[in-house]
Amino acid sequence: MNTHFPDEIFQDFTVISIPTVTNFRGIDHREVALFRGSEGWSEFSPFLEYERSEASHWLKAAVRAAYRPWPKLYRESIRVNAIIPNIDPSEVAPLLKNFAGCTTVKIKVNEFEDGAALVEEVLAVIPDARIRLDVNGGWTLREAVENLYEYHSRFGDIFEYIEQPCRDLLDLRRLKRETPFKIAADESIRKNLDGAYAQLSEYADIAMLKWAPVGGFEVAHEIISSAGLPVVISSALDTGIGIAHGAALAASFPKLDFACGLATIPLLESDICEPALLPQNGEIVVERREPSGRLIHKYRASEERAHWWKNRVSDIWNNERGSEWL
Ligand SMILES: [Mg+2]
Repeated sequence: MNTHFPDEIFQDFTVISIPTVTNFRGIDHREVALFRGSEGWSEFSPFLEYERSEASHWLKAAVRAAYRPWPKLYRESIRVNAIIPNIDPSEVAPLLKNFAGCTTVKIKVNEFEDGAALVEEVLAVIPDARIRLDVNGGWTLREAVENLYEYHSRFGDIFEYIEQPCRDLLDLRRLKRETPFKIAADESIRKNLDGAYAQLSEYADIAMLKWAPVGGFEVAHEIISSAGLPVVISSALDTGIGIAHGAALAASFPKLDFACGLATIPLLESDICEPALLPQNGEIVVERREPSGRLIHKYRASEERAHWWKNRVSDIWNNERGSEWL
């Protein structure tokens, strides 16, 4: 039943389902809810398995972006990195074609030899690439020390930073102290720090933030002003609508030292915007986007899925006091 679904807040609520082109996070379709508010279009797209409390941050970000003006912006375009998921090395060169002008490449790694093969493929296409490895917390401290030693001996100083090598905060701190690599925290910021953002600089050199999972612009700025670390903004397999808000977040920091992870459209069969929000000359433009009627027609999800998403929104809105976010 959708009796409490607030249609007046979530205008033109539309659920779409876009196939992914690689096995990213083990999903083959990306389901996303789009809606419109007084300031423009917004996107609510927590992954399907996320529980209410975690998904509520995404809804808060989405509602505020639809109803509040963007904060002050310091730049009109954002330098972005290419992203290589854990794929077969033969898929690397074709995928990199979609990241025009990007010279920083983030590679998802786990086992050393598989990851090293991806690094080699990237360097074959972009010989002077700056490489980031994203481990998603997959290594123990000992594996991290061993693997990073191997990466350094095989490739030298090509690594810009290592993203979330271990899950545990104390392991991150030891790595930061004992290896020459810069460490970026991603999952830890939301899942392990318990709000103690001022301590983040003990565990990491760089903070990765995503517009929706942290709960939007205000929370992201609170985290960075407490942590006092350089920030990298990335997206979470969003469409161009959500990525546009991420780009605005990146543009809202007066100082931005690194390329951002906002070029994730190449991991989907299509954007929902036309033209697609793909990098050009290694950058994406900061502007609000709207969905294309043609692409909504093509990718609209079933009635049943739209119903599921309306129930999800209603559940959060009613139980997490969503009306206070406006
Ligand atoms: Mg990450």
